Amino acid sequence: MDVTTNQISVEKTKNTKINDVDFNNLSFGSIYMDHMLVCDYKNGAWEAPKVVPYQPISLDPSAKIFHYGQSIFEGMKAYKDEQDTIWMFRPLDNHKRLNLSAKRLAIPEIPENYFMEGLKALLKTDSDWIPQSPGSSLYIRPFIFATGLGFHASPADEYKFVICGAPSGSYFSGEVKVLIEETYSRSANGGVGFAKAGGNYAGQFYPTKLAQDKGYQQVIWTDDNTHEYIEEAGAMNVFVRINDTLLTCPTSDRILDGITRKSILKIAEDEGIKTEVRKIKVQELVDAAKDGSLKEMFGAGTAAVISPIAGFGFRDNDYMLPTNLENSYATLLKDRITSIQYNKAEDKFGWRFKVE
Ligand SMILES: *Cc1c(COP(=O)(O)O)cnc(C)c1O
Repeated sequence: MDVTTNQISVEKTKNTKINDVDFNNLSFGSIYMDHMLVCDYKNGAWEAPKVVPYQPISLDPSAKIFHYGQSIFEGMKAYKDEQDTIWMFRPLDNHKRLNLSAKRLAIPEIPENYFMEGLKALLKTDSDWIPQSPGSSLYIRPFIFATGLGFHASPADEYKFVICGAPSGSYFSGEVKVLIEETYSRSANGGVGFAKAGGNYAGQFYPTKLAQDKGYQQVIWTDDNTHEYIEEAGAMNVFVRINDTLLTCPTSDRILDGITRKSILKIAEDEGIKTEVRKIKVQELVDAAKDGSLKEMFGAGTAAVISPIAGFGFRDNDYMLPTNLENSYATLLKDRITSIQYNKAEDKFGWRFKVE
């Protein structure tokens, strides 16, 4: 059954929190807008999505999310331009990926129409929450988890789909030094690394904490089999510039297919930058760092867009990258992708999505 935005019921809050928010001083993802979208899966079908006040969710202790971790999410953003028009960036790709994750975790897929119309109804209700100040946006978190009951290790029969939003300033992480990880793995062949499954992140916290104790901010994961090839960072794909070539590794069932990653590849090609999608050996990075051909490394993902990496640690050595590089790819590519997102540049690839 299809729904239209106007058919989605909206229960408005009586206590808006918007007057407590300093929109010129936003942190990242820590204040939540007044409403959320909820949609329940029961008796073999998704029920009608509805917009309700942001509120706690009450669950039975035997809900399967607590025991078996059936939980997936997405991360996307909404932008408001100077004319107060609301834009999103490739939201249908997020919907497709949410369903890929759902399938892998034996969670029922959410129809595109419920996802998109639900999202639009929510954004219209809380449009005042979408910041307009430069670099700011509404970070949007769709997620689905198992609410069905039972200590039996099998898929739940009930689920909840929720979308919340957090007005957020630009994601500034300071200088990022990363550690190339050789002991722990983020994902394995045939596993769930390509999915945005909650457990993928829980499994990273401990090794990341060990890296932080050594003075690094993030971990670069390597392949689980040989640990010889770099794969990706916590919630970002990784790019490397050697001389003037921009490299990133191919996606696989271990690596998440980032929307920022594939957009950056397209823009780089459009800029005439030579790109290569291939496996990247840690040893190649070490050699390139030593002979000076390693110019840049950066992470790419929705939250930070592009997050420059200052250097990496491997075994007992640190390899620092050049600072104040002229014609940095990271700066150029971030500029181009964000001007499309904020409706400040021509959208030649048809990525922008107008919320109306
Ligand atoms: C979300 C995520 C990314 C980035 O994906 P985008 O679609 O660009 O936001 C990359 N790697 C992992 C592991 C992620 O969870």
